[in-house]
Amino acid sequence: MSTVPFLDLRAGYLAVQAEIDAAVARVMDSGWYIMGPEVEMFEAAFADYCGADHCVGVANGLDALILSLRALGVGAGHEVIVPSNTFIATWLAVSAVGAKPVAVEPDAQTYNMDPALIEAAITPRTRAIIAVHLYGQSADLDPVLAVTRAHDLVLIEDAAQAHGATYKGTRIGAHGDAVCWSFYPGKNLGAMGDAGAVTTNRADIAAHVSTLRNYGSRVKYVNEVQGTNSRLDPIQAAVLVVKLAHLDDWTQARRTLARRYNEALMGVVTPHVPLWTEPAWHLYVVRHPKRDALMQALADEGISTMIHYPIPPHLQAAYADCGYAKGVLPLAEAFADDMLSLPIGPQMPHSDQDRVIEAVNRLAATL
Ligand SMILES: *Cc1c(COP(=O)(O)O)cnc(C)c1O
Repeated sequence: MSTVPFLDLRAGYLAVQAEIDAAVARVMDSGWYIMGPEVEMFEAAFADYCGADHCVGVANGLDALILSLRALGVGAGHEVIVPSNTFIATWLAVSAVGAKPVAVEPDAQTYNMDPALIEAAITPRTRAIIAVHLYGQSADLDPVLAVTRAHDLVLIEDAAQAHGATYKGTRIGAHGDAVCWSFYPGKNLGAMGDAGAVTTNRADIAAHVSTLRNYGSRVKYVNEVQGTNSRLDPIQAAVLVVKLAHLDDWTQARRTLARRYNEALMGVVTPHVPLWTEPAWHLYVVRHPKRDALMQALADEGISTMIHYPIPPHLQAAYADCGYAKGVLPLAEAFADDMLSLPIGPQMPHSDQDRVIEAVNRLAATL
């Protein structure tokens, strides 16, 4: 029995193999292996794609968040509003700068942070809000921006899952003060290793992140601030330039798969898509009360699924002292118990998807 992979990364390479091989060879032959024209080319192309004035390449998505927080002046003694339902990197970035993550529960329909709950979580120590466009569906940014402005805070967007997603017709990329991207291989725009970026319309933030990523230095051996080494690798930048040109086609393929799932699946809760977003469908997440049994039964038929995420950040050992006991963030905990991500990816054959649909519909009804 052939298997249905969760995401076929190799197929993503083979789809553009000649272009990627040529791009990598070009960097090898250039003799220029740190920063330089390849990084600048990608930064310009991705800023343009996002409709942002600036793009600063960094080493990964977590660093994009950390350096954005630092550039925006967030540090020890501050609190940052974060979603309870997110990948732990969102929280880790806040902790890394010495600030405290303050969790806000998601909307039960969209799974993204509920804007109506933010105000109650704000204290005199709050400096920033991080909105996550989880699973590739944009958060409801207008009400989040309204709270941000009303309380003189800054808004960081964690867009690690949202390449190409739109909010009210505009691509994610410059709504907040800083927008943070990951190009981890499994993301919608994925490198052949670690990579990340910050996009922004704020020249001051772009300049600050750009300095921080390179030892706090704009002029070699002149260090203005205690920066770090978080540069975007030019080989990865060259790969990303190739892949960016195909991103819209790949997003379209994901949207077609999502529509087919939405129309055909029965016996599971399918994603609700609010009118304000055209999602990038990084993940296709369903809910079922017997999630673990469903996942196992699908695995027995050769269908790979994943859980995003099995343990919410506040229940991780890493956050044992964060002050959130089990039961305090019930929606995030419920999602961890009943959510299942079905296979989706730009190269996924519809025949594979038909197998997933048939199996889910048969199993979900009988479990
Ligand atoms: C992947 C991801 C990150 C971190 O990106 P890395 O490149 O792995 O550091 C941050 N936030 C979210 C929501 C992610 O999915």
